[in-house]
Amino acid sequence: MIDSALLDMIVCPNCLGKLEYQETPGGFVCLQDRLFFPIREGIPVLLVDEARPLESG
Ligand SMILES: [Zn+2]
Repeated sequence: MIDSALLDMIVCPNCLGKLEYQETPGGFVCLQDRLFFPIREGIPVLLVDEARPLESG
């Protein structure tokens, strides 16, 4: 469960834009950079080095 106050504080480390929470597979997406930031052990990993590129589409 991610509360909305936390969501408001979470920004993309690359572009400082808003991230969208994705329930599956569980992580945050920057639509601008098309990067996926995973959540590990309940903690969002907001590091560009750890981000995965989104599939095309
Ligand atoms: Zn971004």
